[in-house]
Order: sequence, then structure tokens, then C-alpha cells
Amino acid sequence: AKTAGKNGVRIFDTALEMITGEKSELLQDLHSAIERDQLALLYHPQIEISTGRCVGAEALLRWEHPRRGVVSPDIFIPLAEESGLIHEVGQWVLRRVAQDCTRLNLDYIAVNVSIKEFVRSDFIETIKTMVRDGEIDPFRIELEMTESVFIENFERTNEKLQELREMGFRFSIDDFGTGYSSLAYLKNLSIKTLKIDRGFVKDIGINPNDEVLTRTIIDIASHFEMKTVAEGVENETQLAFLKKFGCDLAQGYFFTKPIPLDAFIEWLGRRCE
Ligand code: C2E
Ligand code: CA
Ligand code: CA
Ligand code: CA
Repeated sequence: AKTAGKNGVRIFDTALEMITGEKSELLQDLHSAIERDQLALLYHPQIEISTGRCVGAEALLRWEHPRRGVVSPDIFIPLAEESGLIHEVGQWVLRRVAQDCTRLNLDYIAVNVSIKEFVRSDFIETIKTMVRDGEIDPFRIELEMTESVFIENFERTNEKLQELREMGFRFSIDDFGTGYSSLAYLKNLSIKTLKIDRGFVKDIGINPNDEVLTRTIIDIASHFEMKTVAEGVENETQLAFLKKFGCDLAQGYFFTKPIPLDAFIEWLGRRCE
């Protein structure tokens, strides 16, 4: 029984080590993921609800790990943020989107920007250089950020957004309503779009509370002359509800799962037939 106890402790220790060990191993691999060309983008269409037209898409990052298979961004983005690699990753995404854009006849591609990336003092300078060198076309890029960027330092954030806007970028607020921030910032900003989180959209047709919240977000947005994109639309019921209450755009598995560029181009072609 004594040795079993000791064993128990030892096993526990090993399990802990394994978790941290696994993490540092993954981080190690992430360092070389870019140069080894293991990052890939998927595209997820955004559909104008009134016309059914695909007007834009969100770029979603994947890591094709040689041994683990596809690693979800929910796992490696936090790792990249902790380690500072997020800046390299973010620049890779912007460059790739800029290349892919030229093959897509869409109004914009939405790119997720991590708050860790955004708050860095040289973020603007890096973007400016990329624009100046003709690497990215700001007029075709929508930067998606969560409302957490406004909690940190509203004034500074606002200045940065202003600078980016002058370059031609547009913005959307991702996961709107989930970030515990005050709504006050909305009245001072000219952000174009609010994204209604999948958490609200999921139970439309099932839970009246989520329906009220969704309608409220649409109302707030229209009051500030912002557009709304509903995330996670999976069925006809949700789409009909969103249409009825004036949501502008829909994104979700109902149309397609996120797909690689070539498949996306084919998908767009089929829709136009
Ligand atoms: P997000 O920005 O909120 O992206 C939406 C997520 O919801 C995506 O997951 C998308 O695949 C998923 N989704 C969209 N429609 C549906 C639906 O109808 N049903 C279901 N079940 N899911 C749906 P994904 O691709 O796993 O991305 C997870 C998160 O990782 C993103 O959440 C975003 O925060 C982050 N992320 C993805 N790409 C990037 C990137 O390039 N840079 C940064 N910084 N973060 C990224
Ligand atoms: Ca997003
Ligand atoms: Ca989102
Ligand atoms: Ca989310």
C-alpha cells in the first residue's frame, strides 16, 4: 500500500511533467511551423442575408502538424500568444490573405487579430511597412478583434484604429457581447461590423433568451449604423429568424464548413451557376 501511495505521487508528477513537456514540445514545433510551411488558411463565407450573395469570407488558421495532424487554433494561438510567436503568425496570415485575395472576387477577407498582436507598440509600423511594400491591400481586409482591446487602453486603441482606418482597413468586433466590457466604447467608434457570437445564435428557435439577446445586438448595431454578422448559422430556422430581425450577414456550417482556397473558389463558382 505504501509503494502504491508513492507510485500514485510519482504518476501524478509524471502526468504534470507530461503536460508541460507536451506544451513545450508543441511550442518548439510551432517555432519551425512557418518555415516548414505547415500553416494553412481555410475560408468561411459570409453571406448577405437579403440577397444570398457571398460578399466576403473569414480566414481561419490551421496548423498541419506532421505527427499530430491538424491542430486547432484554439490550442496553438494561445501558445503563440504566450511565446510572442503570434506576431510572426499574424504577419504570415496577412501576407497569405493578401495573395489569396487576388484570386477571389469578394468585397473583403476578414482576418482575426489577436489582442496580444494589436497592443504591441510596433504593430502599426509593421502593417504600414507591409502596405507600403505592396504586400497587402488594406482596402480588401477587415480586421476582426474582440472587444477586449477596448478594456486595456481605450484612447490608445482608438488612435490605432484611426490610423489603420486611414490606411484603408475596416474592422469588426468579434464575439460581441461575450467580453464583459462596457458598451460605452461603441458610441465613440466608427467600427463597421459587430459579429454576433455563435453562443447566442446556437439556440435561436430553442431558447427565447438567446433570441432576445440576438435581437438586442442587431438593434444596438443598427442604432450605431453598424452591420451585423451572425456566426455559427447551422439551420434554416436560425437564418429565417436573423432575416426577420434585420441581421445583415450570416456565416456558418449551414452554407459550408471552412474550406481551403481552391475548394472555396469552386464553391463560389457553383453558387453562381
Ligand atoms: P472565431 O474568430 O470566433 O471563429 C469562429 C469559429 O467558429 C471558427 O472556429 C469556425 O470554424 C467556427 N464556426 C463557424 N461557423 C460555425 C458553425 O456553424 N458551427 C460550428 N460548430 N462552428 C462554427 P476555428 O476555425 O476553430 O477557430 C477558432 C478560433 O481561433 C477563432 O474563433 C479565432 O479566435 C481563432 N483564430 C482562427 N484563425 C486565427 C488567426 O488567423 N489569427 C488569430 N489570432 N486567431 C485565429
Ligand atoms: Ca473571428
Ligand atoms: Ca467569433
Ligand atoms: Ca469565438
